[in-house]
Amino acid sequence: MRARRSTVSDDAAVNSPGKLPRNLVREEILALKAYHVASASGMIKLDAMENPYRLPEALRDEVARMVATLPINRYPDPTAPELKARLRDVFDIPGSSGILIGNGSDEIIQIVAEALARPGAALLAPEPSFAMYRMNALFTGMRYVGVPLAPDFTLDLARTLAAIRESQPALVFVAYPNNPTGNLFPADAVARIIEEAPGLVVLDEAYQVFAGQTFMHRLHEFPNLMVMRTVSKLGLAGIRLGYAAASPEWIAELDKVRPPYNVNVITQFVAERVLGHIAVLDRQAEAIKAERENLAGRLRDLKGVEPFPSDANFILVRVPDAVAVHDRLLERRVLVRNFHGAHPLLANCLRLTVGTPGENELMLDALSGSL
Ligand code: PMP
Repeated sequence: MRARRSTVSDDAAVNSPGKLPRNLVREEILALKAYHVASASGMIKLDAMENPYRLPEALRDEVARMVATLPINRYPDPTAPELKARLRDVFDIPGSSGILIGNGSDEIIQIVAEALARPGAALLAPEPSFAMYRMNALFTGMRYVGVPLAPDFTLDLARTLAAIRESQPALVFVAYPNNPTGNLFPADAVARIIEEAPGLVVLDEAYQVFAGQTFMHRLHEFPNLMVMRTVSKLGLAGIRLGYAAASPEWIAELDKVRPPYNVNVITQFVAERVLGHIAVLDRQAEAIKAERENLAGRLRDLKGVEPFPSDANFILVRVPDAVAVHDRLLERRVLVRNFHGAHPLLANCLRLTVGTPGENELMLDALSGSL
């Protein structure tokens, strides 16, 4: 656009900085609130399902030395062969499947939605679930079909299958285990969904390491299945790497949508190296699982707190007044996630990430004083 010299007669409102975006940005984006990430400085951070443990010092030093040698003046290799070989080996990705890599699994969700967003196509997901499924339907203009879970957050299989038959979705997301509820849907129910779905089913196994269940070895049974994971919850949230496995035919199409340099040089090399020490991360995940059980028991003993079963690294709880409890926890420098208002089934629910034993102790103490 050519710059226009302003005149004294120009209406100030016409030239106000917000006017042009308000006129041009799509209505549905204008109507959104920005994704809010609370400031965590000085807080006990239990809001984002991160692994609370750092890497051992020797491994951190190894990573630092390697990063110093990386050719960051060059673009990354878009095919990332070493990283993909490591992922295949460490996470048992079948030789017959292709691999898609993303800047976090967030980006993979976006890529899949963009690729499948034919005019009128539907995206279906149980809800409440990970909010980015619905958001990406909105971004790509797909018709969103949310199928409510039962009030205890179990899967309503009959209702889900009926919704699939009716809406014929091009894309289905199932989080396995589910976020923010924490539970793992039964494998036979998930298999029924995959069989019934006429389009692609993305099984989001972001929390797989804490649940032990997977469909990775069943990919050959279902031509319409993609298994998506992330290294974020394993302890590498900061480097942003997600991956997905599906038939090579699916991956070839999705790879056309993927920005070629989406996974940067540092992420590719650091992930490849650190995943070579997967036993370190697995031990941390075991510690988190043990602490989850301890935390669940302690929460059950707290009067006024109803914890829901979890196969992930967080526990959803219902409290008498989530907004008030959340505020009081903040005053006590404890950051958890408030889901009250996010979905009717999540009334008065807070999601507590499992931290170190010390962090959990402080959180429990603050929680019991906040009810
Ligand atoms: N899927 C689920 C179910 C999640 O909970 C999250 C993160 N909260 C993601 C995907 C995205 O993870 P990332 O982008 O860090 O890989």
